[in-house]
Amino acid sequence: MKKALINIDYTFDFVADEGALTCGEPGQKLEEVIVAVTEQFIQNGDYTVFAVDIHDQDDSHHPESKLFPPHNIRDTKGRSLYGSLQEVYKANQDKENVYYMDKTRYSAFAGTDLEIKLRERNIEEVHLVGVCTDICVLHTAVDAYNKGFRIVVYQDAVASFNQAGHDWALGHFEGSLGAKVEKFRDVKS
Ligand code: ZN
Repeated sequence: MKKALINIDYTFDFVADEGALTCGEPGQKLEEVIVAVTEQFIQNGDYTVFAVDIHDQDDSHHPESKLFPPHNIRDTKGRSLYGSLQEVYKANQDKENVYYMDKTRYSAFAGTDLEIKLRERNIEEVHLVGVCTDICVLHTAVDAYNKGFRIVVYQDAVASFNQAGHDWALGHFEGSLGAKVEKFRDVKS
């Protein structure tokens, strides 16, 4: 079965201590595993997507403006991939199986061409990593489920600022979306 990695919102604003909407330490701890998962998908020739939140400054029409402080603003450092993931992306950005895409909502499918890209490659299974488990990863997983994709979530490669939300989402992936929730460290060999 063909699979794709969707690497969600692992950016400075969502992960770094000085990030505008940060997960903090739980997010920072994922760096090594996210990099390992991403490198494995790229090297195996599997489709590897970087789905990265983008907002415009002072966008009064965007629903998140009322919910969260400004984050991942266009052309700011906040949107850069966190830590060494940025280097991994830069080293591989010209590869045919690497796709960097903007998203403006929690779900990587909302208002984007992600589904078209996956369907034209006959991809049936999406593997999810990134932040936050209970917001952007969750909404992407729900859309993937509704569109009939099989789902794998690497629990050692997702995190949230909200531990209760994180724990709840992992249960929801498995119990309600039929996802496989597993540790990349256990399955990589
Ligand atoms: Zn956002």
